[in-house]
Amino acid sequence: MKLRIIIIGIVLVSFFGALVYGILNNNITQDENKIMSNGVVDLSKWNFEQDGIVKLNNQWEIYFNQFISPHTFEQNMQGAPSYIELPGNNIDFNNIKPFKENYFYITLRTKVKISDPSQIMALKTTLILSSYKIFVDGKELGEIGKVGTSKENSSPRYNNLVTFFKPVDEEVEIIIYASDFYLGDCLIGVPHIGIADQIVNENRLALGKDLFVFGILFIISIYHLGLYIKRKNDKSPLFFSFFCILVAIRTLLVGERFIVTLMPLPHDLYSRLAYLTAYMSMFALAGFLYYTLEGLFSKKYYTITKNISFVFAGTSLLLNYHYYNMASIPFTVFVFIFLAYSLIKLVKGYIKKWEYADHVLFGFMFFGVAIANDIIYQFVLINKGSMVPFGVAAFALSQAFTLATKFSKAFSTAEKLTGEKEQILLDIKNSNACLEQRVNERTKELTSTLDELEAMSKTDYLTKLYNRRYMYEIMAFKIKNNKRFYIAIGDIDNFKIINDTYGHSVGDELLLQLAKIFKETLKGIGVASRWGGEEFLFIIEEEDKDQVTCLMEQLRTIIENTNIFVEDKSIQVTMTFGICMYTEGMNVEHCISIADEAMYKGKNSGKNKAVVC
Ligand code: GH3
Ligand code: MG
Ligand code: MG
Repeated sequence: MKLRIIIIGIVLVSFFGALVYGILNNNITQDENKIMSNGVVDLSKWNFEQDGIVKLNNQWEIYFNQFISPHTFEQNMQGAPSYIELPGNNIDFNNIKPFKENYFYITLRTKVKISDPSQIMALKTTLILSSYKIFVDGKELGEIGKVGTSKENSSPRYNNLVTFFKPVDEEVEIIIYASDFYLGDCLIGVPHIGIADQIVNENRLALGKDLFVFGILFIISIYHLGLYIKRKNDKSPLFFSFFCILVAIRTLLVGERFIVTLMPLPHDLYSRLAYLTAYMSMFALAGFLYYTLEGLFSKKYYTITKNISFVFAGTSLLLNYHYYNMASIPFTVFVFIFLAYSLIKLVKGYIKKWEYADHVLFGFMFFGVAIANDIIYQFVLINKGSMVPFGVAAFALSQAFTLATKFSKAFSTAEKLTGEKEQILLDIKNSNACLEQRVNERTKELTSTLDELEAMSKTDYLTKLYNRRYMYEIMAFKIKNNKRFYIAIGDIDNFKIINDTYGHSVGDELLLQLAKIFKETLKGIGVASRWGGEEFLFIIEEEDKDQVTCLMEQLRTIIENTNIFVEDKSIQVTMTFGICMYTEGMNVEHCISIADEAMYKGKNSGKNKAVVC
């Protein structure tokens, strides 16, 4: 917390320090080598190579509504001259003008004393009313727009002018004709004088600076516009792009006025564009702050700034120069309030650790200094390299970083969510697979249980032979399909004795082993069932009586000759069978009882027999 306050302190001090420096720097201190008196600048002790370019911010002779020929100046000047200190504006002019009217033409004159007339020198002018023409030592050097004595014979134009001349002697006479029948703002900037190379270099540097800044802002603008087009739910890159392109265009319009050099832009359009870009850039900036720091700036802040910007923009589009130029004064007040409020909000946001507030605050400092400087430039016409381009470029770069951070964060979140989503999908897939496996297992279990149940419903629990119920089903099926078959009933002989001798469990085991013998022997020919107790019923699918008799005899013999091992005991049993053929129309129960009777016959006649009825 303490560190944050210290950082804010440092930033604020640098901010206001830069502001104060900008203002102080404008009040160029008098140099002892540059002696200025009315209409004359004595640079005889000035060494251009060491001391640099000179700003001619001295008092110039001024003659209203006269264009005095440079060659016959002394003869034609009427009365004592008035003097004006450059730079000059409305207020300065109101003090010396012999009339109220703001549309007029003038002749300006100053003499510059130099020590070395052998060098080629240059003069750079930026803004003198709405058109001007320059003469040095009687020679016409250049004209911006068309100077004239009325609206009809003059035309306005904004541009910088660099002119070169070779001084005739130690005293250089500079005469400027200037006129304005269009703007009425009485603005005159300070001309610069220096050795040709110095002025050329200064000019190149300034132009290079403008183009450099334009390039940066233009690319940033296009890049962020692209970002917005691809992802429209965040408007911060859109406003940022808008802000950058506005400032980029403005950089080429003001400053070295590159656009005017590049193409003959009509003065009116040029002027409207310059104001429009300034008015709209506030709206773009407010939008950027509002959308980047979601929640820190209220909707009201955004709406009010937007409406005010639009009203001012409207003046630059609909009204004439006089009014939209006047509008720049209340707009300046608005800008100061807007900047101060935004700054306070950002500082508050920074203290509250609002997301991105630190980034934006950092960049905002550059921007604030630049804007303040620009406004001072508008008012007092500091004729020096403006801080605006670099301030705004620094702001734009730092904010591009802010947005990049914002975007990477969004991407990281998206990646994280995608990762989580994939994991969830994987889990669902796994659990689905598990579920499928479980369902399969359960189905198998159920199927086998059902199979078991079905088997249980058909078979006897001990011997696993078919039960009585199922045998009736088989017989019914055979009867229905007109199949012939034999029924045999078999009963174990003297089973009670076996039970009594070896125990009931041995008896059970014996039943089981016998069942196996039945199955093996009758395989493919017939089926065996446990009819009850130690009694069994067989269905033989054979039509020939002898074959059936033979088969049952064979079964009886196998049983008789088999030593059945139960619990290490070898047991021999015999069985008695009674056989009956089922004939069409016969009652099954009747057939069974006949077989039963036959079996009892066998029992009664000594057991271990197969008796056919
Ligand atoms: P016979 O030769 O006349 O058929 O004489 P038997 O002893 O076999 O006939 P009896 O009807 O007198 O006795 C049948 C015995 O079979 C009585 C009963 O304990 C036994 N038995 C019936 N069902 C089972 C069973 O499931 N397990 C065992 N261990 N014994 C059984
Ligand atoms: Mg019996
Ligand atoms: Mg028996």
